[in-house]
Amino acid sequence: MGLCTVILDGKFNYPSVLITDIDNNHYLFDCGEGTNSRKTANRIKAIFLSHHHVDHFLGFDRVISHNIFSENQLNVYGPEKTIDRVVSKVKAYDWNLAEKSDALKLRIHDLTNSGIISSSVKVPSGLENIEKENNQFSEKKIILNENLTVHYTLLNHKIPSVAYSFSENDSIKIDKEKLKRLEIKKGPWIGELKDKYAQPEAILSIGDGRTYQVKDFADLIVPVKGKKIVYASDFIFSEENLKQLIEIGENADIFYCEANFLSEDEIKAAETYHLTAEQAGKIASKAKVKELRLFHHSRKHIGQEELFIEEASKYFKGPIK
Ligand SMILES: [Zn+2]
Ligand SMILES: [Zn+2]
Repeated sequence: MGLCTVILDGKFNYPSVLITDIDNNHYLFDCGEGTNSRKTANRIKAIFLSHHHVDHFLGFDRVISHNIFSENQLNVYGPEKTIDRVVSKVKAYDWNLAEKSDALKLRIHDLTNSGIISSSVKVPSGLENIEKENNQFSEKKIILNENLTVHYTLLNHKIPSVAYSFSENDSIKIDKEKLKRLEIKKGPWIGELKDKYAQPEAILSIGDGRTYQVKDFADLIVPVKGKKIVYASDFIFSEENLKQLIEIGENADIFYCEANFLSEDEIKAAETYHLTAEQAGKIASKAKVKELRLFHHSRKHIGQEELFIEEASKYFKGPIK
């Protein structure tokens, strides 16, 4: 259970949500406000944009500025046109002092219903002649590494708005108390047991010449369920959006859901393709998430955070923050 998560700059400012993994790598969901911390920005492995409205994209330049001459390749994911839009942003600056080596290495991805279009862009040397690779597949999935997977879906915000489900793979840990009682010396065999726990017949050599099978240590293996965090911002309350969200978000441990309005402004919410807090509560309840975190509230209600929680709690009975 290594994932930590936080809204970077409060519920009434433009949205940015940060997830940190067990190795202290950072993953940023939307680039609203709060992206100006150098400490955070240069640990970011990937940015996941919901869409390109200014309140979700204006902090992107900050992240870029903190990653100049970084060794890392920064991955940026978003809906269609993300490649073009990111390239336009970086093209807006002068890079004449970065002539000897590139200042940035970007890998940009347009997420669509039929696959992912990707492009590697070096700044400034590769800013002209952008090549796009089109990877067609039916599963809307991004594998970040052997432990982390992201599923996405496109919601209707009058334009596509991408919702993400960020999940750790299930894993195991070793029961230390039981291990002590076994009176077998610790060694590399424990790492091997962790790697091979799903293969009961696999052979383990414990270092003193004796060999065992993985199933001989079945008692030591404690399954650990990976955590799942869902991020969904800016979309209209509709059957189709609800269906899509349940598909990727069901049983999530934490569900970040926008709640721009209170129900007194339900008509305005629909007109601007946003949600009310009550609607966010309904979705959380239908998706059977464990915890709801509301954000992206209209500034009209600054200081009235409790009202959003109250409304959502009419429908969602789990914890709400
Ligand atoms: Zn929007
Ligand atoms: Zn917005």
